[in-house]
Amino acid sequence: MPRTIITGGAGFLGSHLVDRFLAEGHEVVAIDNLVTGSLANIDHIRSERFRFIKQDVTEYLYITGPVDYVLHFASPASPIDYLKLPIQTLKVGALGTHKSLGLAREKKARFLLASTSEVYGDPQVHPQPETYWGHVNPIGPRGVYDEAKRFAEAMTMAYQRYHGLETRIVRIFNTYGPRMRLRDGRVVPAFVDQALHGQPLTVFGDGSQTRSFTYVDDLVEGIWRLLHSDEREPVNIGSQDEYTILQFAQLINRLTGNTAGIIHKELPIDDPRTRRPDITKARERLGWESKAPIEEGLRQTIEYFLKVGIEG
Ligand code: UDP
Repeated sequence: MPRTIITGGAGFLGSHLVDRFLAEGHEVVAIDNLVTGSLANIDHIRSERFRFIKQDVTEYLYITGPVDYVLHFASPASPIDYLKLPIQTLKVGALGTHKSLGLAREKKARFLLASTSEVYGDPQVHPQPETYWGHVNPIGPRGVYDEAKRFAEAMTMAYQRYHGLETRIVRIFNTYGPRMRLRDGRVVPAFVDQALHGQPLTVFGDGSQTRSFTYVDDLVEGIWRLLHSDEREPVNIGSQDEYTILQFAQLINRLTGNTAGIIHKELPIDDPRTRRPDITKARERLGWESKAPIEEGLRQTIEYFLKVGIEG
């Protein structure tokens, strides 16, 4: 039975990966310090093949027994989280990646890094192929996340080249779905929260900035395929459905029947103007592209928030 370690396993993406790997017959160990993750995300798991360790992955990771895969997903991942936790964000991207790579090396396991479209910063190339080096402000408020992930990629490639470790890097674009935190500040939960309370949606700036939204199940499928592929360099995984934030707000108001409209607020510093992955590589090498229609994905997400409650 393959054994997989998932850092950030109680988080939004981590917990969905835990579900998938358990369903595929793996034994899974989730490690999380619960700073932005939550036990509620793994509460439903009854499998005897699952174990949870509460630990900060910037500390030495001691795991007994064999390990086949290490997936490093621990990190604050929303702009307001990494503004609130700038040093922890840098540490988990840098020291946490180092510890996770060290664990993979010790166990001769295959390592997969959760990287991000943020490595492209405010891109000057559109859509963004993996060959684009990015346009990142290292000293701006988002720099703590962007640079941590860029460092994490560099460290991962160094372990691959210097130690011969099998590594994979997924560059994740905006992903949404059940188990996002209602108040994590990202646009999907923020708009759904406001809409379900009958409030106007807060569009930052004029709303002409764009994002491409991927449903979590599609992302998990892309990660599964990448992990089992031979692709040793970064691969973009993200949807091709690009929306302006204004269009997106109108869509959420329509889906929720919210009539309170839209208000504009100040655009955060260094907010990327555009974002859409070039997924030629994922298509050709992994046979992957996103499938979930946005309206269906959003319905599932809204249903989830209604189920867990919107007063949190
Ligand atoms: N945004 C917005 N209103 C909100 C939250 C976010 O207009 O209440 C915008 C934000 O400025 C950005 C986009 O939505 O342009 C996506 O923001 P998010 O924080 O979800 O992720 P990002 O892609 O910026 O990391």
